Amino acid sequence: MLVRKAIEVSGIVQGVGFRPYIYRLANEQQLAGSVCNTAAGVSIEVQGPPASVDDFLARLPVGAPPLARITGITVREIACNGDRDFQIVTTHRGESVGTLISPDVAVCADCLREMFEPADRRCRYPFINCTNCGPRFTIVRNIPYDRPFTSMAAFRMCPACETEYDDPRNRRFHAQPNACWTCGPQVELWDLDGNRVETADPIAETVARLQGGEVIAIKGLGGFHLACDATNAAAVRMLRERKRRVEKPFAVMVPDVGVADGFCEVDAAERRLLLSPPRPIVLLRRRQDTEIAEDVAPFNRYLGVFLPYTPLHHLLFAAGGFTALVMTSANLSEEPICIANDEALHRLHKLADCFLVHNRDILLRCDDSVARVCRGRSRQLRRSRGFVPVPVFLREDVPSVLAVGGELKNTICLTQGRHAFLSQHIGDLENAESYGFFEEAIEHLQRILEITPVAIAYDLHPNYFSTRWALSQPRRPLIGVQHHHAHIGSCMAENNLEDRVIGIALDGTGYGTDGNIWGGEVLLADYDGFERAAHLAYVPLPGGEAAIREPWRMAVSYLTRHFGCDFVRGLPLVAAVPEKNLNVLFCMMEQGINSPLTSSCGRLFDAVAALAGIRRQVNYEAQAAIELEMAIDNSCDERAYSFDLIAEGEGWIIDTRKLFEGLLNDMACNVSIGDISRRFHNGLAEVLCEVARRIRNRWGLERVCLSGGTFQNEYLFERLCERLQKNGFQVFTHSEVPAGDGGLSLGQAVVAARRLNQSRVNR
Ligand SMILES: [Zn+2]
Ligand SMILES: [Zn+2]
Ligand SMILES: [Zn+2]
Repeated sequence: MLVRKAIEVSGIVQGVGFRPYIYRLANEQQLAGSVCNTAAGVSIEVQGPPASVDDFLARLPVGAPPLARITGITVREIACNGDRDFQIVTTHRGESVGTLISPDVAVCADCLREMFEPADRRCRYPFINCTNCGPRFTIVRNIPYDRPFTSMAAFRMCPACETEYDDPRNRRFHAQPNACWTCGPQVELWDLDGNRVETADPIAETVARLQGGEVIAIKGLGGFHLACDATNAAAVRMLRERKRRVEKPFAVMVPDVGVADGFCEVDAAERRLLLSPPRPIVLLRRRQDTEIAEDVAPFNRYLGVFLPYTPLHHLLFAAGGFTALVMTSANLSEEPICIANDEALHRLHKLADCFLVHNRDILLRCDDSVARVCRGRSRQLRRSRGFVPVPVFLREDVPSVLAVGGELKNTICLTQGRHAFLSQHIGDLENAESYGFFEEAIEHLQRILEITPVAIAYDLHPNYFSTRWALSQPRRPLIGVQHHHAHIGSCMAENNLEDRVIGIALDGTGYGTDGNIWGGEVLLADYDGFERAAHLAYVPLPGGEAAIREPWRMAVSYLTRHFGCDFVRGLPLVAAVPEKNLNVLFCMMEQGINSPLTSSCGRLFDAVAALAGIRRQVNYEAQAAIELEMAIDNSCDERAYSFDLIAEGEGWIIDTRKLFEGLLNDMACNVSIGDISRRFHNGLAEVLCEVARRIRNRWGLERVCLSGGTFQNEYLFERLCERLQKNGFQVFTHSEVPAGDGGLSLGQAVVAARRLNQSRVNR
């Protein structure tokens, strides 16, 4: 007796070697039938003895190719026919119609083996790839994901490559970027004027120049990197000066995990993350006294480390010329990463000494992703190359919405069905080039994902460029979502939560519904809406943006509020500030001139950091807060500064007077900065936990969501999680989606989608 079953598989199942896998599996079980790509994924029919068909079904999800991500399998019985063998049916319209596109993937072990095999026809070929590895997202011009619609269209496959491409048993069957020395892209070394440097081996020449201390722009997968020897202090300093990046840490690429382990502590989870196919930059705790130049990551206990992910990277390291390369996005500070050869010549002229380029176009910029392991889980700090465009899977179907994110670390999000597609890292929109990239990403993603949004979600801040862009769009409903509500919505969506939660949202800046700048918020929230249950007490932000760049102003603001102007005048904190300027500052705060009120947690960190003597001015976002965390002493001082909770309406204001009293007292007693920092972090965790307990007593909520950029502070995050769990709360946090503003657009999208659904119900 025979049975025949029709199987539909959804998820990331196209362009990842899924059909050849099914073909092999069916042949092993001696089943007849067929497999083809469909709009929803992959459609399979198998026919054979019931036991063999059952075996096939059981094995199907288990042995799927490494890049496949199955999100659903449905099976139904259909009538048998006269099929005798199993076939791969190629769809007429091409390969992937409206399905998920794979992200870019690090070169696989099989390809690497071939690349270093002298007899292989692709020996040392820098663009070797197969269905299990290589570029995807960054070379897609349009859908379907088929060679003519990628930047590989310019290269016509040679007969040898063509044969592999057409053979279902070959691991390059329908590998769209398939190429070799004869038919594929090539590298060249260019001087500053774009002239080819005459050399038989551009990669060997690049290695020699890096060893000589040069800074070289190297074209990669999602854009150019600026590279130099990370152990050469002079080269690193020169790169910093040219890039005008004063102190923000650089990432380093090392040849393998063993070398990473020499520079940093690497545990099992971090090792897995380093080696995972997206090959993100992983923040690792650095060891003392290594040969990495101090300027790579000044004042930081962590080092961003990643492993080679393109064949070209492996070739650079294979010569053994260096143990670590600084590999930083090729741009001036805060501009988007550079992708085209001409663009590189023009924009990187003063940054690089020469250019290692190739002729495969990058169609969409995509920076390296940054992640860390915290409480045993990997957590995204910047979700970009290797992860995008894998969607976040939602708990139910939602209308198609475009959410345009915030201002800094911008990403956008598009929803369709149960998928929320977060874009790659776009950057800070106040920068004109980044704004161009923002518009480009919106257009490109809508096209390749085939999504036509029915509404646009945006942040309430009237001056954000993303908000202004949204408000200038014609026709569609425009839905404003409060910043911290979006943060909590993002955390809820990632964790597939539905009911109301206690949302603790801590960050630097988010526009509040009262027109003030929020940032130390405890909300009662679900997708429908939120109430503000508690927040840090308001203080003036003297000078607006200037107060963000100069943390000492925040210390003055807090101390003036609690102890008055005369007290502040006598402090060493302001000794260097001319009397006249100080008086102007007092006057501005007093009269509310250019001094918006803020409950920002980031600014509270700034005030404490400045007062404790860590930093008066910052060179990059959140620098003072990061250095305050780095200062924490690892002794076991369990003391904590106290905060008062003052009743306001149904909720509370978190008052900071006692915190500053304790802090000033400790300073007078010469308590170390390490202890002061620790007591501050402990105190903040304590008071937030106390707020959660009071909310539970009053409203009966037990689930807590933590979101916002401040939770990139590992100590505060761990401490608060621990406290909350000890007190019986269920704690939900971010892992796949950044806690900071890079995750904001997801929250905007899900909140807006809910509002759309409701307005339909109400109509
Ligand atoms: Zn491969
Ligand atoms: Zn070829
Ligand atoms: Zn935020």
